[in-house]
Amino acid sequence: MTDAPRAFTTTDAGIPVESDEHSLTAGPAGPILLQDAYLIEQMAQFNRERIPERQPHAKGSGAFGRFEVTNDLSQYTKAALFQPGTKTELVARFSTVAGERGSPDTWRDPRGFALKFYTSEGNYDMVGNNTPVFFVKDPMKFQHFIRSQKRRADNNLRDNDMQWDFWTLSPESAHQVTWLMGDRGIPRTWRHMNGYSSHTYMWVNAEGKQSWVKYTFKTDQEPEFFTQREADQMAATDTDYHMRDLFEHIAAGDFPSWTMYVQIMPYADAENYRFNPFDLTKVWPHGDYPLIEVGRMTLNRNPTDNHAEIEQAAFQPNNLVPGIGPSPDRMLLARLFSYADAHRYRIGANYQQLPVNAPIVPVHTYSKDGAMAFHKSTDPVYAPNSKGGPVADTMWYGSPPTWETDGRITRSAYVSHAEDDDWGQPGTLVREVLDDAARDRLVDNVVGHLLKGVTEPVLQRAFEYWHNIDPDIGERIEQGVKTERNSKAGQKARRRRH
Ligand code: NDP
Repeated sequence: MTDAPRAFTTTDAGIPVESDEHSLTAGPAGPILLQDAYLIEQMAQFNRERIPERQPHAKGSGAFGRFEVTNDLSQYTKAALFQPGTKTELVARFSTVAGERGSPDTWRDPRGFALKFYTSEGNYDMVGNNTPVFFVKDPMKFQHFIRSQKRRADNNLRDNDMQWDFWTLSPESAHQVTWLMGDRGIPRTWRHMNGYSSHTYMWVNAEGKQSWVKYTFKTDQEPEFFTQREADQMAATDTDYHMRDLFEHIAAGDFPSWTMYVQIMPYADAENYRFNPFDLTKVWPHGDYPLIEVGRMTLNRNPTDNHAEIEQAAFQPNNLVPGIGPSPDRMLLARLFSYADAHRYRIGANYQQLPVNAPIVPVHTYSKDGAMAFHKSTDPVYAPNSKGGPVADTMWYGSPPTWETDGRITRSAYVSHAEDDDWGQPGTLVREVLDDAARDRLVDNVVGHLLKGVTEPVLQRAFEYWHNIDPDIGERIEQGVKTERNSKAGQKARRRRH
């Protein structure tokens, strides 16, 4: 409490109100009157407090901060925010994917890692995850994937059988599922996880030279995880642990930071690289394309109104500034549409005018009107015009990010490169990155997950899936499930006999 004089309550129109406690009634024992405009306003506003939650990534929170460039990568991109020494304000939001707004932060799930940079060339958004890969590579499957991770139609419960049914029928999911079932599938806090663009993007330099790029944000706090048991205990005692952790550390002045790196692939390498570089289920091994430092992101300011500044924050990967463009990654190309579309539905047509979403640069747009329009339109309201309205600065934008296609319209799978298969990279993760203890935890996590409601024939397919990733791990998982089932069946039989 401060000693500062307190403001008097007003209606939303700024009119002083008579009471925060008593409704207007016809006599002390009489009915409430419709003319109590303040009471009506409070009730009506309350009914409208919730907006549709994100589908997916509903549960999350975030903070504001700054990105500072520490290296010179101007030979690869002309984007102002990545020029040497540049400092850019930003907002970040972290989230789980499948759970609803009230769900536990420590459920096993990928985490969203969404950033909005308020650059001198307009907003640049990177809507990444804490994982470098994803479950599917074609947007046709995305909706089905998310539904399989959420809730059944009949009992409204989440269902491991449904998850494994989808995963085992979609072998391209194997890399992401291996990653998810390992230690990094439950980060200890948001401060202790890495972030990845996951997608490949294009960078264009001032001469118009194009390169392919992937981003990695390595946590300066070091990656840390929860075991399944720790996470289950935390879910039972503090549903909002990750949200609380971030807020409390920033409030205490302990600002988390991440060092941003890029992997740069020369434009011409893409065609014959051993993996299709636009396939979201694959990484570019660091031995092929090493990490190059770009700069540091620090989160140093909490929101003061989580709804206005985080729930209404609208990240969209189509916010690409000059010097950065998309790639032929089909998932990215679909997201260029779907995020902005989700915000129009979830927040409203003029969501970009809200303070958290507004750029720091002036907006000169011919977009106008719509619900809750805040910016004033000015004449002329059309282009082209001879009345002094804004014109596109094609010289400033320079070479747009483009690539060649063969022009044939087709429905087909990704073009496979020499070493593309669904099992190779998850196998490398299991055999070459995880140590013995991490492999043991992976087996335990998968066995525990499969024992919770996964039925035949899905279970048999899950065993084959893991045998394909790694024969030894597959065998251990199969034997682990069978042993546990037999011992449970034995216990039941013994109980029946006694
Ligand atoms: P490297 O040995 O150069 O890198 C291994 C990567 O694995 C590091 O980025 C490390 O992150 C990360 N890692 C460590 N533990 C885990 C874990 N439990 N779960 C997931 N990732 C973990 O190997 P390569 O680049 O040759 O890739 C080998 C495999 O590593 C890949 O098949 C992929 O599964 C995985 N990987 C690769 C990444 C890439 O972009 N190349 C990124 C992340 C994972 P850190 O440095 O923060 O410890």
